[in-house]
Amino acid sequence: MRGKKNFRLDLHIHTCLSPCADLLMTPANIIRAALQAGLDCIAITDHNTGGNVEVAMKIARGSGLQIIPAMEIETREEVHLLCLFPVLEALLEWDKLVAENLPDLKNDEEFFGYQLYTDDQDEYIAKEERLLAVASRLSFNEVVEGVVKLGGMIIPAHVDRPANGIIRQLGFIPPEAEISIVEISRHAKVEEIRQEYPYLKNYPYLTGSDSHYLSDIGNCGQEEKGFPLTEDLLQILAEYLSL
Ligand SMILES: [Zn+2]
Ligand SMILES: [Zn+2]
Repeated sequence: MRGKKNFRLDLHIHTCLSPCADLLMTPANIIRAALQAGLDCIAITDHNTGGNVEVAMKIARGSGLQIIPAMEIETREEVHLLCLFPVLEALLEWDKLVAENLPDLKNDEEFFGYQLYTDDQDEYIAKEERLLAVASRLSFNEVVEGVVKLGGMIIPAHVDRPANGIIRQLGFIPPEAEISIVEISRHAKVEEIRQEYPYLKNYPYLTGSDSHYLSDIGNCGQEEKGFPLTEDLLQILAEYLSL
């Protein structure tokens, strides 16, 4: 994929396993919408789980769309971090550790929404009973170290957002942490953010759609905002991921 002109990716997409996502966000629907949007590569990033990634990769095989195995974890400090891996096995190992570090809370479907697993026929097959959209017991440092150890990469999600963005939650991005890229919300005004937090200039950034609805997929605003994916950024991603 690398070197392809106008390589298009969206590294922040939730499936119906995230309680806040629309029930139509099944892997097959997501893949169809991503291909229609002209994307080459997406990451499936459910809250604190990689449970629908394997099936998504299976469905996408041969379609021309690449799926990055990933999740959006919430750390003990309530920071949202995208955890992306070069191979499925690394995500599955990470997933086990995260599952052991989730608080034992039951999902309230009426309040939070359904958390649904699907199969390769795109049928709902099971519900996750534990609440997923909640802070795990893993600290920011534990998450960064754990993911990097498995060969993955961390992209702090929506760093500009008051809710669960790293800057508001931690006050800064720890300079010693192995972080090469940050994600800025697609609605953010980049110049304002850079003025407020000048050190963000040190980080190449991308925007993900943070899709919870099919119509969001691919709406990253990257081109419109005048910061297309640069070669540098793709280079960094390719160092960690199998692009
Ligand atoms: Zn988030
Ligand atoms: Zn998200």
